[in-house]
Amino acid sequence: MMAELLIIGGGLAGCEAAWAAARAGLAVELWEMRPARQTPAHETGLLAELVCSNSLRAAKITSAVGLLKDEMARLGSIVIEAARETRVPAGGAWAVDRMEFAGLITAWIQEHPRVEVVTREADRIPEARPLILATGPLTSEALAADLARLTGRDRLFFYDAIAPIIDAQSIDRSIAFEASRYEDGPGDYLNLPLTENEYNAFYDALMAADTVKRRDFESTKHFEGCLPIEVMARRGRQTLAFGPMKPVGLIDPRTNRRPFAVVQLRREDAHGTAFNMVGFQTRLTHAAQSQVFRTIPGLAGAEFPRLGSIHRNTFLEAPAVLTPALELRENPGLYVAGQLSGVEGYVESAAMGILAGLNAARRVREIPPVVPPVTTALGALITHLTTPIKNFQPSNVNFGLFPPLAKKTPKKMRGQAYADRAQKDLEAWMAENDLHPEAGDGQ
Ligand SMILES: Cc1cc2nc3c(=O)[nH]c(=O)nc-3n(C[C@H](O)[C@H](O)[C@H](O)COP(=O)(O)OP(=O)(O)OC[C@H]3O[C@@H](n4cnc5c(N)ncnc54)[C@H](O)[C@@H]3O)c2cc1C
Repeated sequence: MMAELLIIGGGLAGCEAAWAAARAGLAVELWEMRPARQTPAHETGLLAELVCSNSLRAAKITSAVGLLKDEMARLGSIVIEAARETRVPAGGAWAVDRMEFAGLITAWIQEHPRVEVVTREADRIPEARPLILATGPLTSEALAADLARLTGRDRLFFYDAIAPIIDAQSIDRSIAFEASRYEDGPGDYLNLPLTENEYNAFYDALMAADTVKRRDFESTKHFEGCLPIEVMARRGRQTLAFGPMKPVGLIDPRTNRRPFAVVQLRREDAHGTAFNMVGFQTRLTHAAQSQVFRTIPGLAGAEFPRLGSIHRNTFLEAPAVLTPALELRENPGLYVAGQLSGVEGYVESAAMGILAGLNAARRVREIPPVVPPVTTALGALITHLTTPIKNFQPSNVNFGLFPPLAKKTPKKMRGQAYADRAQKDLEAWMAENDLHPEAGDGQ
């Protein structure tokens, strides 16, 4: 078989890409280095191994990740098909039997007449085009070095430091005030002022909170520029008040005075539906984050579409290097999928595999690439990957990445409204681009 498409990495994204391209009729070669060479987190030689949790998160389409799974299923996703077959009870979450899940995907890919799986590590970027890189957050060193050479060293990162984001409607606007440091009038930030007592209460809660255990291979070293908030706080009670919570240049209009400390919130999206807690990257557990951050004045009722984290992760500064078709701008025919492209999470990584596979196949067929509508979960992730932003960080899918709903919708009904709009737009887009997978497996 003469391969028309080479894919490096047989994880979630690589398998989706291979499946999508093979279903579109391409002969595909898929290189996976395991079991000959393991990553520090994988344990088997199976394709699509889930390295940590066995959950694909929320099942309902009224959550952003549930909606994303629904969209993937409509596009013929192998991950969702295997997840359906291997589902285990987990309340509202969609969890799978991890060995059966990876076993099934491995069998389906290996049995596909147009896919050849090769056990091989890519130690540099192969010349073949089209080529999809889907080597994940633990991309082997030699390949990562070559990718850094290709894109520029400052465009590839090895750790992510994610600060929580907050649903704009859950912030108490009678406490928050708009201002940019040293500037008159309403500014770009929302500021949450703290008195000395409030600051001390927050500090004590932070010091008492649980942090996530570090995996063996994760270095204890942090870059000074993105220290976890709790690590900084451990340096002394006042460190945060002179660091990310410094009040300089800010006057609280209610008191006409400078507060003792301030938490600054920066718009996460152009529509202002979500705000990022500036400088609040953290390794606290999710439960501890929700509890501790709600002690901050103005955040008592805060809802967090995304909580903070810091972990080993190889990813590109997507907005600087990727097109909306997931192709490197400066290297036509070279696609990047999965966690490496700048999304976060099993489902999101797999979803980017489908899009890369479809677009690589279209390149071979000389058809223009497809980009899903911005109102869909798939499109919202592409928006995240292609919107220029300072300090780009990977993101899970969340409704904060979607354009706001046209009508003001009660909170309880928002998820359904996002889903209705997305499903309608996705169907129209699929019909327009002839993307409906054939009945059966489409081989
Ligand atoms: C420790 C850890 C825990 C995580 N836990 C979760 C979680 O619980 N839930 C969640 O939603 N997300 C989690 N993630 C984030 C992410 O969703 C997963 O890593 C996900 O598997 C990413 O999918 P992927 O296809 O991009 O990469 P992977 O699934 O990692 O696939 C990449 C594949 O490429 C192979 N490879 C790497 N380099 C080469 C090379 N040079 N040549 C050939 N093959 C190569 C690897 O062996 C691997 O099979 C975690 C990430 C890490 C690092």
